[in-house]
Amino acid sequence: MKVGLMGGTFDPIHYGHLLAAETAREACGLNEVWFIPSFVPPLKDHQPGADGEARLEMVYRAIDFQPHFRAMDIELERGGTSYSIDTVEALQQLYPGREFSYIIGSDRVNDLAKWHQIEKLAGLVHFIGVERPGEKIDVSSLPAYIRERLTVIDMPLIDISSTAIRQRRAAGKSVRFLVPDKVYSFMRRNALYES
Ligand code: ATP
Ligand code: MG
Repeated sequence: MKVGLMGGTFDPIHYGHLLAAETAREACGLNEVWFIPSFVPPLKDHQPGADGEARLEMVYRAIDFQPHFRAMDIELERGGTSYSIDTVEALQQLYPGREFSYIIGSDRVNDLAKWHQIEKLAGLVHFIGVERPGEKIDVSSLPAYIRERLTVIDMPLIDISSTAIRQRRAAGKSVRFLVPDKVYSFMRRNALYES
């Protein structure tokens, strides 16, 4: 069974994440995609704006009724800095016989060489890369052992980021249609990112 892993802060989850997951599922014949919110993301210069519980709840709401999508609280439960290598090793123990691939946007593809224990990680998983606006995937700057494990797939460019959503919320602007309705209503009800 082929499983795509969609890691991220999901602060909040938006349509860019969902379309990346669906596009990768179809293009690479994945049986499922698992969304895994991080507790503390590595390589980020700011801490999440919403707590782990709220970020997980928004993921659940976003993937509700999607038979191929699941949410996993493994990194939130583990706590500390959420390194992908720890997550993959734990998942391989818990779910033997799966073939795991990380689905990542171009910003994360280009910094792959900086990931914690990347050589070990690249030996355990494949990477599926999708382009984001403003950042072209630069395969030539990646070491060969990463390139060999990377498949870049086509996806319509989606100019949505969680940062822009948080900024719009803080400025009192609408984020309707950037996120699923159920995520939108949850953010409003809980006054998330309003200041
Ligand atoms: P932030 O602005 O807080 O960093 P983000 O929108 O980049 O949020 P993350 O949770 O950091 O979202 O990203 C999780 C994963 O989803 C990363 O691999 C990222 O590259 C990818 N991703 C996020 N937004 C998009 C998008 N619009 N198109 C394609 N991939 C995306
Ligand atoms: Mg990001």
